[in-house]
Amino acid sequence: MTFNDNANISGGKVSRRGRNTGIAIGGGGLGVIVLFVLSQFLGVDLTGLAAGTAPQQDSGTTSAIENCDTGAQANANVDCRMKGAAASLDVFWSSALPPLGAEYHSPTDLALFTDSAGTGCGTASSATGPFYCPPDETIYIDTAFFDELSSRFGSNGGPLAEMYVVAHEWGHHIQNITGILERSQDGQTGAGSNAVRVELQADCFAGAWVAAASQTKDESGVPFLKAITQQQMQDALSAASAVGDDRIQEATQGQVNPEGWTHGSSEQRQGWFMTGHDQGAAACNTFAPDDSQL
Ligand SMILES: [Zn+2]
Repeated sequence: MTFNDNANISGGKVSRRGRNTGIAIGGGGLGVIVLFVLSQFLGVDLTGLAAGTAPQQDSGTTSAIENCDTGAQANANVDCRMKGAAASLDVFWSSALPPLGAEYHSPTDLALFTDSAGTGCGTASSATGPFYCPPDETIYIDTAFFDELSSRFGSNGGPLAEMYVVAHEWGHHIQNITGILERSQDGQTGAGSNAVRVELQADCFAGAWVAAASQTKDESGVPFLKAITQQQMQDALSAASAVGDDRIQEATQGQVNPEGWTHGSSEQRQGWFMTGHDQGAAACNTFAPDDSQL
């Protein structure tokens, strides 16, 4: 998925937080961990997967994010790409949420960080994976995760795969507004659990945005993104598949236990992404089907 070079992305609400914010990793406490599980991109701690491997750094991504102004920059630089995605998602949901019966407000921030960052949910580390923190309404992403998506999870990678991650987390912000996010706080796991239904809805919302992205425009009427290509769609679906609970369990535990699922299977994550893509956000009622139809 490619930005139009002259699209104005300067309105994207993004920050890059400094390396090592001075807060010790691991001081979160149980409440924080539970909260993380609710709203993370994946249901695993990345520490085990990352053992012995230093996270890769994107070269040149620590440049001042406030200087990201154009789609051309978003195509060239991952920080600017995050800002472009934020700008587009903000415009999309401003018009897509009211028909669903809720008033939209932007997340406080899309915070990019390296290694660790202090958050309203405790300290985030790279091992946390991308997540949304409801108390401070902020999305946190260590952009090194995008390298892990391909190197450790076997996804194709690519810009649309990266933006799918942002759009999924933005989906949790939408759920925080609508009240749906709370439903995952019942402590249950499993293939038909509320936790899985919440996660699949976030995937569905991401698909809805992807479908509308090339018609979502900046203040001057320039679409932020060009029409999606087949290859880019494959990349996004590959990412959705790579982070399915079954795929991750198979890779980390050597077996699949549906009763431990918190995010849904590869097939479910791809399926709901496509439902949102093909039918729009109004079709993202992941709480309607019974377990076998989910
Ligand atoms: Zn999630």
